[in-house]
Amino acid sequence: MPSATAAIQGLIGRLFFRDATVTRVEDIGRSFRRLVLSGPALREVSWTPGDKLQIFLPGIGSRTYTPLRWDSSTGETELLAYLHGDGPGTQWAKTVSAGAAIQVFGPRGSLVVGGTPPAVVFGDETSLALARANGVPGRTVLEVTSPGETQAALDALSFSGVTLVARQSNDAHREALVDAVVQALQAHPGAPLVLSGRAAAIQGVRQGLKARKVEFAAVKAKAYWAPGKVGLD
Ligand SMILES: Cc1cc2nc3c(=O)[nH]c(=O)nc-3n(C[C@H](O)[C@H](O)[C@H](O)COP(=O)(O)OP(=O)(O)OC[C@H]3O[C@@H](n4cnc5c(N)ncnc54)[C@H](O)[C@@H]3O)c2cc1C
Repeated sequence: MPSATAAIQGLIGRLFFRDATVTRVEDIGRSFRRLVLSGPALREVSWTPGDKLQIFLPGIGSRTYTPLRWDSSTGETELLAYLHGDGPGTQWAKTVSAGAAIQVFGPRGSLVVGGTPPAVVFGDETSLALARANGVPGRTVLEVTSPGETQAALDALSFSGVTLVARQSNDAHREALVDAVVQALQAHPGAPLVLSGRAAAIQGVRQGLKARKVEFAAVKAKAYWAPGKVGLD
């Protein structure tokens, strides 16, 4: 039986969700999948880089992703899904084929990137689309499980100048993350800082910057996931 949340989202969906078709899928190594979504309902849509898009998964609810780009004249957008386990969003992203009809909710405001000056973006594998939407190289720091797999995704996106820090158990890489964020902020004075990805890593970077009394223009944060929590939005 669908959960109460899924039932409510189903009801809302009939009113507000946009119909779309998955028109292209591309596997990038074992850990990422790029998905192109198209359809008339995706035309004439107002999209700001960093906005979120929710994919409606019937009987389950929704899972949230970040459009890499949005072409509102042709009605086309693109997502990059990190295939991290066997949750419903990952299952959907792993198995969906070109031609599948789906419903989406959004785009809606979340973090804002791509402004002037562009942000310094911190995150992880789930933040690649956010970093790409920010649009400029050399301002991204990501904690990742496999630097090789993530580099393959960055190459597929033609996105260079990203600092990758390998995750270690018990967050032993925290100081390396703080070092990398400090370097990016110092290289780009006046850039706002945007923190995304794993909730504990965001907290660790915030605490590290505070402890070192690092100054920056502004900070916005949004946890994309946390161990044990499902479907954070
Ligand atoms: C605003 C926003 C934008 C996002 N943009 C993107 C995006 O562009 N691409 C993308 O891939 N994801 C993105 N995410 C993250 C994605 O929504 C979550 O990873 C989500 O939990 C995936 O759903 P699921 O059904 O696979 O797993 P869930 O059912 O939600 O979770 C199952 C289990 O997996 C764990 N888990 C969730 N994410 C991860 C992870 N990354 N690594 C390890 N374990 C994890 C959970 O803690 C939980 O224990 C975004 C999230 C938000 C809030």
